Amino acid sequence: WFDLSEDQAALQTRARRLAEDIAGPQAAETDRTETYPQPVVDALTEAGFMGQTVPVALGGRGASYFDTVLVIEELARHCGVSGRIVVEGNMGAVGAILAYGTEAQRRLAAEHVLSGDKPAICITEPGAGSAATEMTTTARRIGDEWVLDGKKHWITGGGISRLHLIFARVVEDGEDKGVGGFIALQGEAGLKIGEREPAMGLRGIPETEVIFDGLRLPADRLLTPPAGLKRGFAQLMDAYNAQRVGAATVALGVARGAFETARAYMKAREQFGRPLAEFQGLQWMLADMAMKIDAARLMVWRAALSAEASGTGFPDPLLAAEAKIVTSEMAVEVTNAALQLHGAAGYSRRNPIERMVRDARMFTIGGGTAQMLRNLVAGRILEMKTPQIRGGYLPRASGGA
Ligand code: FAD
Repeated sequence: WFDLSEDQAALQTRARRLAEDIAGPQAAETDRTETYPQPVVDALTEAGFMGQTVPVALGGRGASYFDTVLVIEELARHCGVSGRIVVEGNMGAVGAILAYGTEAQRRLAAEHVLSGDKPAICITEPGAGSAATEMTTTARRIGDEWVLDGKKHWITGGGISRLHLIFARVVEDGEDKGVGGFIALQGEAGLKIGEREPAMGLRGIPETEVIFDGLRLPADRLLTPPAGLKRGFAQLMDAYNAQRVGAATVALGVARGAFETARAYMKAREQFGRPLAEFQGLQWMLADMAMKIDAARLMVWRAALSAEASGTGFPDPLLAAEAKIVTSEMAVEVTNAALQLHGAAGYSRRNPIERMVRDARMFTIGGGTAQMLRNLVAGRILEMKTPQIRGGYLPRASGGA
């Protein structure tokens, strides 16, 4: 049992109230209309939840990732989309820029999230999904500028986000220097939003193509991690570990919302002259759901807290991967069990459960699939690299079978 500090409990209560009063009541309509819930974002911004991890010196609250997961779970319990907006308002692109950026870059990022922007992180390409390093988007140095060409897809917030962190292959004097992050703003010539993906769940935030058609950026928009460009991709991905913990927390919140809805339904619905809650088979289902949610929360909290001791300022990669695998798979199971406990009512779009099933489904895919994260976990357990390319493993030095 964890005792939250007085401040943490107060923060959690504020998030719960906003979720119950503002985010929850509009969740079904946001899903139906597939529109970005701007009034909710305004309320999240007003409440200080957007950009709460921004340091005090830059106008934020300097909140920890742990504080932030407390907020995200409460929101996602009622509205997964709102939870996800707070993830991106505090983790992912903004985390990377705050950690590695120049003073001007950090200020730019801070101003955006503190005024309610949900930045976009642009990594995935049609030909480079799990194999992210196979990206072909290039950033060529021409005079004082970078010129970006290429195409990303499945970019969350495409057309909504103002700040973009774009991962691209850096080419200088015709030479590939590694993968770098570039900061671009909505409306800059050459930054084009392509088709929206008709996604299964979390329909209040668009996923779109983002196209760079000779996008010219000033030289100072390149985000250079301390290890430089050659090893920079790994450090940029370190920052992504916070986003993974955030995504796991949304899955946790959605699962908890489905569990609580199912618990109430089991007490209210009667068959064979007694409430569903009296059938032992269903009681055990509910008990399993509760235990899985609790176990997942422990992993999410451990991963969030690890940021304080990891040495990078970001959650430990292993703990973040484990938390995301366990929580995302748990959320698929628990939301489906909640639907089953509702019978036909769960299958109806009049009720929130089918939305929760759809909303939960993405977390085993986006931000590193459950399989790719298992590759990471396996590598740590075996204390070896786990290259995925054909021929990636070196032959044994000598005497090997
Ligand atoms: P693929 O890489 O084609 O994989 C297909 C299947 O093969 C998967 O099951 C995968 O696990 C498996 N697989 C592939 N390689 C291996 C291997 N070596 N070992 C074992 N299994 C393997 N990307 C962004 O850059 N920015 C975003 O904002 C963003 N938002 C997203 C939002 C949503 C809702 C979704 C669904 C995706 C989003 N993505 C985003 C993209 C996401 O990160 C990719 O979908 C993910 O990395 C997987 O890539 P892929 O879809 O191309 O699958």
